[in-house]
This record gives sequence, structure tokens and C-alpha cells, in this order.
Amino acid sequence: MSELTNNQPDAAPADVIAANVAAVRGRIASACERAGRDAAEVRLLPVSKTHPVEALVAAHAAGIDRFGENRVQELVAKAELLDPALGIEFALIGPLQSNKAGRAVEWVAEFQALDSLKLAANLDRRLQALGRSLDVLVEVNTSGESTKFGLAPDDVLSFAAELGAFDSLNVRGLMTIAIPSPDHKQVAACFEMLRGLRDRLRDDQVAGSDWPELSMGMSGDFELAIEHGATCVRVGTAIFGGRPPVAG
Ligand SMILES: *Cc1c(COP(=O)(O)O)cnc(C)c1O
Repeated sequence: MSELTNNQPDAAPADVIAANVAAVRGRIASACERAGRDAAEVRLLPVSKTHPVEALVAAHAAGIDRFGENRVQELVAKAELLDPALGIEFALIGPLQSNKAGRAVEWVAEFQALDSLKLAANLDRRLQALGRSLDVLVEVNTSGESTKFGLAPDDVLSFAAELGAFDSLNVRGLMTIAIPSPDHKQVAACFEMLRGLRDRLRDDQVAGSDWPELSMGMSGDFELAIEHGATCVRVGTAIFGGRPPVAG
């Protein structure tokens, strides 16, 4: 492998990544079957954070066009390295600071971690200037863990109602990271909470949206999330292998 920086792991071999993509797709299909859902309703968003662009190119060859990244800087660095002819897109699934909003709108096809009206206004203004729109999901903290980003569940309905004011934000749904717990009931409670909020938003057509998307489920819990209505599962480790411990 070439040109890897020190703290990036070597990419898993391309054939391993392709096999992992196929395996995760198979598990999604089985979970959908068990839940009586159509597999076409569930989108696989591979999460490529910490992994080098070679890994993304390998997954792209296995049919993946959009990747999740949780840091703008890393997302932009990868986007700039990739051949535009590949047509690879990125979803930002981590927090966005105002001073990086300009970079983000240049490179991000979808933002799944909206939790601030100030940021919404900032993005909307930049998007208007560019004459384009951005798909956004509102992040909800369903686990109650204080280290997590996202809105408190009680604040979601009033927050969502304000989003209708931002014409360039295409409001698509809700995102959450469930509690990391071996107790399936606790994890499922997070997913059910997100689904319940989404149903209320959809029924009331809040911000003029149908709120079609429920982004929930990661490597350890995506099958459970599908049983509870996920339309987007964000899978990192099960596709790209392990990551080094997070610094900071
Ligand atoms: C890293 C990350 C994931 C993927 O986690 P895995 O457990 O590796 O599948 C999903 N969602 C978010 C927001 C992440 O930051």
C-alpha cells in the first residue's frame, strides 16, 4: 500500500472489503425479510472514517457510491484525493462547527447531524448563495448519554418546526446513535423513541416534510435497527475493519 500516513491503518485488502460489503448486504436482506420489509427500503451507508481512500475505492468497486465520515476535515481531504470521475459522495454524520460550514457545503451531499438552528441558518445562507440544496437529518440523543451530540428528545418537535424557514435545507428525517449496551431492550428503546418522534413529525408534516428517513443502526446493532424501521444503517467496522482508538 502506498502513501499512508502514520496514524491511518493499512487498508483491508480490496477483496476483503468487497466480501464484507456483500456480507453486510446479505445481513440487511435477512433482517428485512424477518421484519417483513422490502430490502430496497434500507440504504447501506458505509462509514469510512480513519480508513484511507484505497478502502473507499475498493468499496466503490463493490457498488458503494456514498460514504459516511464524522469529521469535515477528513471528509474533505478524502474527497480531494479521489478521482471525481468515480462519482463518490459523502454524508457528514458527525458534528459540524460553524467555521467549517463553508467547506462542508462544498463537499457534503448529505448532513445527518443537524442539531442547531444557528448552524441551520448558516448552512442555508451558504447554500442559497450557491443555488443548491442539502439533504439534512436531525440528530437526536436517544441514549441520554451526556457525551453524545444531538437534541434532547423533548426538544425535537419545536426544533423541527423551525426548519421550514430554511428553503435550501431538504429535511429528510432523524438520526441517532443508540446506547452502546449488550441489553437489546435498551438499544431497541432508543430506536423506538426515534421512530415515535419521526411518526409525529410525519403525521403533522412538520417543516413540510414526510420525514422519510430513520438513520439508525451501526455494526453492532443494525439488524435490530432494521426491525425497528431504519431506512439508513451506518456501518463502519463490519465493512472496513477496526479503527485505532479515538484521540480527543
Ligand atoms: C463511526 C460511526 C458509525 C459506524 O460505527 P461502527 O460501529 O464502526 O459501524 C456510525 N455512526 C456514526 C455517527 C459514527 O460516528
